[in-house]
Amino acid sequence: MATAIDERQLRRQIDLALGICEERNAREDLELPDEVARYLWALYELAGRYDLSLPSTTLDAHIQLLALRRVWMPLADSETDDVLRYCLSCGAQLQPSCRRQRCTRCRREAAKQAVAS
Ligand SMILES: [Zn+2]
Repeated sequence: MATAIDERQLRRQIDLALGICEERNAREDLELPDEVARYLWALYELAGRYDLSLPSTTLDAHIQLLALRRVWMPLADSETDDVLRYCLSCGAQLQPSCRRQRCTRCRREAAKQAVAS
């Protein structure tokens, strides 16, 4: 499981790599640049996805990066709006409009503990 710092790093790398792929795709220069390959390797490692292999084009890389982003940045994709989401702490179902990872009760509890310690 990645730590919070890993996660931030991961998100930044996904965005950077997506930007490079989009630019290449727009120019129809589809050969995978070393830079994106390096990002992808780092992402596989951080995500523990050693089953993935490098795509040969920036089009395929783009698809793979979007899939990785869906795992790591679920709130960035509007298509996940209808998906039921659950509190990470207690498993209670969250309101569809809720953009947080935990329910109100758990967040309140965590805040209380942060103050106490
Ligand atoms: Zn909860």
